[in-house]
Amino acid sequence: MSNKKKRSWAEPYKIKMVEPVKMTTREERQQAIDEAGYNTFLLRSEDVYIDLLTDSGTSAMSDRQWAGMMLGDEAYAGSRNFYHLEDAVRKYYGYKHIVPTHQGRAAEHIISQLMINEGDFIPGNMYFTTTKLHQELAGGTFVDVIIDEAHDPENEHPFKADIDLNKLEDLIKEKGADKIPYVSIATTVNMAGGQPISLGNLKEVRKLTQKYDIPIVHDMTRVAENAYLIQQREPGYENKSIQEIVLEICSLTDAATMSSKKDALVNIGGFLAVNDDELFDKARNMVVIYEGLHTYGGMAGRDMEALAIGISESVDYDHIRARVGQVIYLGEKLVEMGVPVVKPIGSHGVFLDAKKILPHLSQDQLPAQSLAAALYLDSGVRAMERGVVSAGRNPETGEHNYPKLELVRLTIPRRVYTQAHMDVVAESVEAVYQNAKEIKGLKFVYEPEYLRFFQSRFEVL
Ligand SMILES: *Cc1c(COP(=O)(O)O)cnc(C)c1O
Repeated sequence: MSNKKKRSWAEPYKIKMVEPVKMTTREERQQAIDEAGYNTFLLRSEDVYIDLLTDSGTSAMSDRQWAGMMLGDEAYAGSRNFYHLEDAVRKYYGYKHIVPTHQGRAAEHIISQLMINEGDFIPGNMYFTTTKLHQELAGGTFVDVIIDEAHDPENEHPFKADIDLNKLEDLIKEKGADKIPYVSIATTVNMAGGQPISLGNLKEVRKLTQKYDIPIVHDMTRVAENAYLIQQREPGYENKSIQEIVLEICSLTDAATMSSKKDALVNIGGFLAVNDDELFDKARNMVVIYEGLHTYGGMAGRDMEALAIGISESVDYDHIRARVGQVIYLGEKLVEMGVPVVKPIGSHGVFLDAKKILPHLSQDQLPAQSLAAALYLDSGVRAMERGVVSAGRNPETGEHNYPKLELVRLTIPRRVYTQAHMDVVAESVEAVYQNAKEIKGLKFVYEPEYLRFFQSRFEVL
């Protein structure tokens, strides 16, 4: 392995099928972004040239996964593919029981409803939009206990997703362990810029929570990428395989929610995994209300087969090294160009620091939303806002939440784009950055109640 590390990370695959993308003129893009209310979520994908909106459900599947799709057993009950998926979850993640769901938020819904009582507090390493909302809908309050370094885009801490053990223990002492149904741990932390948690920290969190008898629920959406960054950065893990590190992370937690649309290399799907027999029984009962029978839970047999294969591919060293390598390639290019980005470069995307790029806009003028729209106008590259719009409103006061980080996420789909695409993206970001003074802020003209970033509409100020 050490020999391999000295060489470039060229893609460990060749291309068998291509999908043409549309090039548009600036006039066409102006019309498209007007119609979309300056929200990149409301653009038609046909009008997008390079789509970096999200790495969710956008991966290219392998020939083995496509072959697996043909082996779908579409029985209502007891599909063969469910058992393959169950085997893969046990082998690669080590959890005992699995409840399939249509995607990650459905697993979050089930675990939140089963474990959280009105008035509970759920500490976590920074929030994720859907995770936090399901905790709130179950009557809980999310409490951020991530280390302070995570809120500083310039700070080069190698494990910005680590938990601040003092913040966690203070919360337990203040609220009482019986008010904390679980600690929520994400690998990696999306909202902090795709940053990993270290195994050293997770072990400490495990020790502390065991002292108070509090379980850990793992948001394992990007666990393979987190494992790769541990292998690259954490002393003692350089000679461990990705598979071993993934298993060790999972072994320190009690249950997991998975959006398999990210690391697990499929276009749809997810699951809830638990070790506790009683909790499993309840989850298996609840899934039939909201998703489907417990042996498919919202997924077709063929999708479960593709997922079982995707899980095995996701922990392959050559795959994950090239995947993260491509993200870092784009990030380092932008750093060289002087563009303010979150550091260190994350594993699934490069996060532009909109506060620094647009210092003339206040947070009320929605700088990240404005920057994402400007980037689309320049080149047809689609990115996503991760700032005040994503942070939503405080359910009690109705005021905007003002996150410290005001970011635009350039999220790289897995196995989809080439290095030349990354070059074009970097050139466009540089051009937008150089003309940043011209970019005007935005204001809301329509705002839905929940997860407003998806459907809000805006107007130029
Ligand atoms: C995507 C995501 C989810 C939600 O999963 P969906 O499949 O989109 O419902 C939860 N947590 C994290 C960290 C995610 O990135």
